[in-house]
Amino acid sequence: MVDPSDIDFYSLGFNFIETKTMFMANHRDGKWDGGRLIPYGDFEISPASCVLNYGQGIFEGMKALKTKNGEITLFRPEENAKRFNFSARRMLMPEYDVNNFLNAVKSVVKANEDYIPPYDSEGALYIRPILFGYGPILGVHSSEEFKFIIFTVPVGPYFPEGFKGIDLEISKEYTRAAPGGTGSAKTICNYAGTMLPAKQAKARGFAQIIYLDAVHMEFIEEVGAANFFAMINGKLATPRKTGTILEGITRESILELASKKLGLEIEERDISYKELFNESCTEVFCSGTAAVITPIASVNLEGNERVFNNRAPGKITNKIYELLTGIQRLDLEDEFGWMTKV
Ligand SMILES: *Cc1c(COP(=O)(O)O)cnc(C)c1O
Repeated sequence: MVDPSDIDFYSLGFNFIETKTMFMANHRDGKWDGGRLIPYGDFEISPASCVLNYGQGIFEGMKALKTKNGEITLFRPEENAKRFNFSARRMLMPEYDVNNFLNAVKSVVKANEDYIPPYDSEGALYIRPILFGYGPILGVHSSEEFKFIIFTVPVGPYFPEGFKGIDLEISKEYTRAAPGGTGSAKTICNYAGTMLPAKQAKARGFAQIIYLDAVHMEFIEEVGAANFFAMINGKLATPRKTGTILEGITRESILELASKKLGLEIEERDISYKELFNESCTEVFCSGTAAVITPIASVNLEGNERVFNNRAPGKITNKIYELLTGIQRLDLEDEFGWMTKV
């Protein structure tokens, strides 16, 4: 573990830092044990474990924030608990009771309270619940033993240099998920395959890839591990839930804020990448727990570039960012009842 007094909370990025305590529960003989807080550390695993051989594993990503008054908040954690169970069912793993999940998250955050970055650093304590098939197998079938672990990492603000747009490349080569597959589950299987395309895009100077749908190679799905939004003809559009996109909690919250607070018309629909090259598309951004709201400065495909708003964040992007982060840090009233105090 790293001593919290040795951490400069004002220069954190998104890198692993070991904290003091983790939560661990085990599922054996068809049931969960009570789970407990233990010192963060390594554990042994069989070379024949299902997760190592066949990828039977899922995760979640959440953040605990310090408010101006020094309170600790979580953003819609029950939604993460429900999605965790949705992912578990898809990967043939046992669910974890939603209330027990919430209590476990709160207890880990409390135990690692000294690692939560201060309010004015704009950082957060990133919370990472994982669940995986732990027991040995040989044939392709489910493990009979599972581990549920929650660990935490202090992370910096997503925009250390300020709220700036990123450059993205539309991929006509790689896809992320196909109909009938696991795209809408937060399974570990969906992420290793995106590392090579992301690395290649970075080498060409792009921050990430925009993935298109696997059937037509035309409709936008996601930006790496973030959901996609575009202002088109004055309406806020986002890809509809087809089972191939990860249904982000930030995405859902943005749709609610846009319609209820900004009075915008929202559209969940197929969005062709061609629409991004049209003047009727005025601003684009992506969203997620890690990405918060990230403005997109340009999209690129085979040498064609579309720059948005002279690379500056758009008006709606700014407004939604202010609303969302304002509520999350309790600088604005929590009028939708989204915040949980730890
Ligand atoms: C986690 C994730 C998101 C964002 O979901 P949030 O609930 O908003 O954090 C989007 N896309 C992918 C692929 C993800 O894994």
